[in-house]
Amino acid sequence: MANWETVEVTTDVLICGGGMAACGAAVEAAYWAKKNGLKVALADKAVPTRSGAVAMGLSAINEYIGYGKGDNTLEDYVRYVRQDLMGVCREDLVFNIARHVDSSVHLFEKWGLPIWKDADGNYVHEGRWQVMINGESYKVVISEAAINAMQDAGGEIYERVFIVAPLMSGGRCVGAIGFSTREPKIYVFKAKAVVATMGGAVHVFRPRSTGEGLGRSWYPPFNSGSSAFFTMRAGAEMTCQEVRFIPVRFKDAYGPVGAWFLLFKSRAVSAEGGDYMVEHKAELQNWAPYGLAKPIPANLRNYLGMLDTDAGLGPLYMETDEAIQKLADQYKDDPKAFKKKMKELESEAWEDFLDMTISQAILWAAQNIAPEEKHSEIAACEPYFIGSHSGASGAWVCTPPDMADKVPAHYKWEYNGKVYGNMTTVPGLFAAGDASGASSHKFSSGSNAEGRWAGKQAVRFAVNNPDIPAPEGVDELKARLMRPLELFEQFSGYSYDSNINPNYIKPFQFMFRLQKIMDEYAGGVSSAFKTSKALLERGLELLAFLKEDSEKLAAEDAYELERCWENIHRMWQAEAHVRTILFREETRWPGYYFRSDTPKMDDANWLTFANIKWDPKTGEWATFKREIVKLVN
Ligand SMILES: Cc1cc2nc3c(=O)[nH]c(=O)nc-3n(C[C@H](O)[C@H](O)[C@H](O)COP(=O)(O)OP(=O)(O)OC[C@H]3O[C@@H](n4cnc5c(N)ncnc54)[C@H](O)[C@@H]3O)c2cc1C
Repeated sequence: MANWETVEVTTDVLICGGGMAACGAAVEAAYWAKKNGLKVALADKAVPTRSGAVAMGLSAINEYIGYGKGDNTLEDYVRYVRQDLMGVCREDLVFNIARHVDSSVHLFEKWGLPIWKDADGNYVHEGRWQVMINGESYKVVISEAAINAMQDAGGEIYERVFIVAPLMSGGRCVGAIGFSTREPKIYVFKAKAVVATMGGAVHVFRPRSTGEGLGRSWYPPFNSGSSAFFTMRAGAEMTCQEVRFIPVRFKDAYGPVGAWFLLFKSRAVSAEGGDYMVEHKAELQNWAPYGLAKPIPANLRNYLGMLDTDAGLGPLYMETDEAIQKLADQYKDDPKAFKKKMKELESEAWEDFLDMTISQAILWAAQNIAPEEKHSEIAACEPYFIGSHSGASGAWVCTPPDMADKVPAHYKWEYNGKVYGNMTTVPGLFAAGDASGASSHKFSSGSNAEGRWAGKQAVRFAVNNPDIPAPEGVDELKARLMRPLELFEQFSGYSYDSNINPNYIKPFQFMFRLQKIMDEYAGGVSSAFKTSKALLERGLELLAFLKEDSEKLAAEDAYELERCWENIHRMWQAEAHVRTILFREETRWPGYYFRSDTPKMDDANWLTFANIKWDPKTGEWATFKREIVKLVN
């Protein structure tokens, strides 16, 4: 630690992360901070122009209401999200995001994002809520606006600074501690309000791609559970930690299937050619009312495919050739129109991959697959934590102040007599995007809108609470942060191979151990997404040993120090997940996980939020129910 400089930054609002939600928070916080003579700082472990899930490029904006034109109502969106989450959602939060999301999309367009338009100038829709974009520069466009807003307001952006943990004072969050991933510097940020927007988590479970394919996953590998760790360690109440997301994607390259299902109307079938959505339709009765309403929830669609896989009818295929042929058939009597249509379809299909998953195109080329001629394998991916997409894990946050009189008491709380929207149960700590829970299907646009909202609320908090109490235990945290480097320095001479040493564990080995536990005990790929009370309890025992050994993580350099902390963050996400699945004694999202010992949905006892809280004073976990209140008919 002797060689590492400590940089102290005092600001009014600190935004942790640089993704879609953080960029929204930066735009709005900078605006309101400037008006109030306050300062905003943002710290991203990467660089905002290319960081977070959207950095890989997307081909559609998945939440657009079309409210202004009367295409849909805000209530329609709430109903859609509630249905997809099998009834478990905070309707106030979804409503709040929906009422702001269209303005985020309009801003994106104003900032230069190309959104597809039809001949009448209307957005081209992929589905009811999705609008098509040329998305290869999506993140660059959105982050540029955030950077400009920050510069205009005299804000500061810290790139390549990995946030490790919150700074606390008397139960209030007053900043964060982190380190540079490029220089020997520890960062101590002191702030009146902190916004956690560090995305979700991947590589908590063993991925399908291991060995030579390691690093490939649907969810980009940049996010490692930092939002969950940060909010949990601050003592925030968490929600929906059991609601992980498993997408079904083209196998191994994880190429997107949305355009194939929605735009090209493609079918997914078993190896025997049966359409599992048709053949297992009766199964949906068992998951009523959600199984019988439209759209069928994503987890149930997964589940019907899994039934075929379990019955030995795999692999599953996307009938790309059939879909393209069907579309082209409409033009079969007009060769010129046929040629034009085929060209159009081909460019749409390729655009989709080149925007988002270039590796899918490479894999197809490697396997001699021309999608218009041959079908392609699809598979359920390993589980991810992404509360902004179709999972729902995140912090339990406060309702918007203007909705406070419409929601039950447990959806709102005050600090010094005021309600702050999107504040966690920890004063001064706000969460948005993947970091806030029970409000999924915000996707890129909704995460940005929610970030804008949280940024504005954080400035309000900073205006009303102008003090920054001294953070507790900073020196201890600094020592803890650096321990992996010191451990390596102390013991690396003990063995010839610095990766193998009885005195410490390297971050890669640690990650593999975590992934093995989660895969085998918490319903990962190799357990066919199934688990049980006994398995979860055994998993918790093994996680406890892992936690002990996390004290022995060693890092050779700053790069490995980052990997060490990423894995500690993942481990906490894992524990909260296992504890909450164990607590919820039913199966509600069978295509995401299946509790074989409680295989049915039990609305009478479990149509409720399962929340969890780690107590910073005692180090104890508590799991408890929170009532779901229906606000929209
Ligand atoms: C594969 C994939 C495809 C998707 N497709 C679509 C789509 O087609 N349309 C759509 O609208 N949405 C899509 N989404 C959803 C969308 O990407 C997310 O909803 C959105 O990015 C969430 O925003 P966020 O800010 O919470 O997280 P992110 O945008 O992922 O940002 C997280 C940020 O936190 C930073 N960070 C992480 N850890 C730390 C740390 N310890 N310290 C400092 N910084 C940290 C990261 O560098 C990053 O800047 C997709 C998501 C994925 C994963």
